[in-house]
Amino acid sequence: MKIYNTLSKRKEEFVPLKEGKVKMYVCGPTVYNLIHIGNARPMIVFDTVRRYMEHKGYEVNFVSNFTDVDDKIIKKALEEGVDSSVISERYIEECKKDMKAMNVRPATTHPKATQEIDGMLEMINTLIEKGHAYAAEDGTVYFRTRSFKGYGKLSHKNLDDLQGGNRSLLVSGEDQKEDPLDFVLWKPRKEGEPYWESPWCKGRPGWHIECSVMSKKYLGEEIDIHAGGEDLIFPHHENEIAQSEAANEKPFARYWMHNAFLNIDNRKMSKSAGNFFTVRDISETYDLQVLRFFMLSAHYRSPLNFSAELMEAASNGYHRIVTCVENLNYLLQSIPGQDGESASVSGEEKELLKEADGFEAKFDEAMEDDFNTADALAAIFELVKFVNLHASSGSGREFLEALKSRIVTLSDICGLVVEKKEEMLESEIEALINERQAARKAKNFARADEIRGELLAKGIILEDTREGVKWKRA
Ligand code: AMP
Ligand code: ZN
Repeated sequence: MKIYNTLSKRKEEFVPLKEGKVKMYVCGPTVYNLIHIGNARPMIVFDTVRRYMEHKGYEVNFVSNFTDVDDKIIKKALEEGVDSSVISERYIEECKKDMKAMNVRPATTHPKATQEIDGMLEMINTLIEKGHAYAAEDGTVYFRTRSFKGYGKLSHKNLDDLQGGNRSLLVSGEDQKEDPLDFVLWKPRKEGEPYWESPWCKGRPGWHIECSVMSKKYLGEEIDIHAGGEDLIFPHHENEIAQSEAANEKPFARYWMHNAFLNIDNRKMSKSAGNFFTVRDISETYDLQVLRFFMLSAHYRSPLNFSAELMEAASNGYHRIVTCVENLNYLLQSIPGQDGESASVSGEEKELLKEADGFEAKFDEAMEDDFNTADALAAIFELVKFVNLHASSGSGREFLEALKSRIVTLSDICGLVVEKKEEMLESEIEALINERQAARKAKNFARADEIRGELLAKGIILEDTREGVKWKRA
């Protein structure tokens, strides 16, 4: 299995630290709003990497955090006049619903930054003791960037170029730093902000130290893969390496994987630019399996431009697989008995199944080459074409089952659900809506939200209107 490593700028053969095991950390979202489909790209891509590795027999310990203390969360909390934990908890729950609806599996552990402050204080302390960090007069703790020899190795930046680029920081009130390249590990609280006690000041952690600490706690000092969007290479991941390697005196992650941006009109989709669609927005028009198919139709290191046309193409592509499985199910249902002639595979069918194995091999070959999901999907299409050509009312049961299992297995590695479960009956939907209304009346908003999530996961969207609750299928 080959992985492109941002550290070496090359594809490298994947060799895990421990045979058969993978320790993987993916930087998760900052939770102050519903996630947009740019945030969904790393979720879908790295969930697919995890699924493929598991398919190959690896045991994957997959950790992905929620950043639940941040300026944007605090700002939103102040606007709403609530505690910032109310905001972060709300959007963690919403994010989990979106993940479920995109068939992104929950991580082995989803740590939250605010629950890991002790570990952060400990690592900052170690860094101070080892001479890699210092506290300024106001209690801010900085990392002494030049004390870490490998600084710049991930982003392939040169310290002196960075020095030039950062000079302006000196005049923006950060003159208590020894060097403009130094970055914050701990900062003093401002009025109205959440804070924790520390030896340096009442305050809160910097963003980078959070991931170094959560990765260490849940995966250990050395891990196999660290991943995220390419905007995280610098400074976030560069700083994580500096902190972790300076504190632990061990190499941090062996492979660094970064997905390219999801763009819109060739510009990065982002909250701050305002050019975004939330996953929830998309779910009103499309089955989120279509979004997943769309994301995987490009290689994860290529920029992907979002457009209605490409979503339509993705919808057609996805439904071509679904229809093929439906046809197979129809043919299977039409076969009268379980035993007899139709149950065994004929000589000709054996030959055909051998041929079908070739598509599986193609799929694997694409995935082994740095997770080329675009080519992997193309291999599924070839298989679909083959099935459409060779499966008929004259085919035997075992043959049809074998074809179906190949399509479903390959799709499942991509996290694509291609065999539609029974749709929810209207009566079931109405019953859940009634239960939700009752829960809201009883101010049990957690249950009410849970029901909304359950329905969303089954493709039912609720809309609260003045005339009452309306629902529709995605
Ligand atoms: P954030 O909440 O901004 O920290 O982002 C969470 C994750 O989403 C990070 O891995 C980001 O790199 C990634 N991300 C944010 N915007 C995009 C985008 N437009 N395309 C791809 N990945 C993105
Ligand atoms: Zn991170």
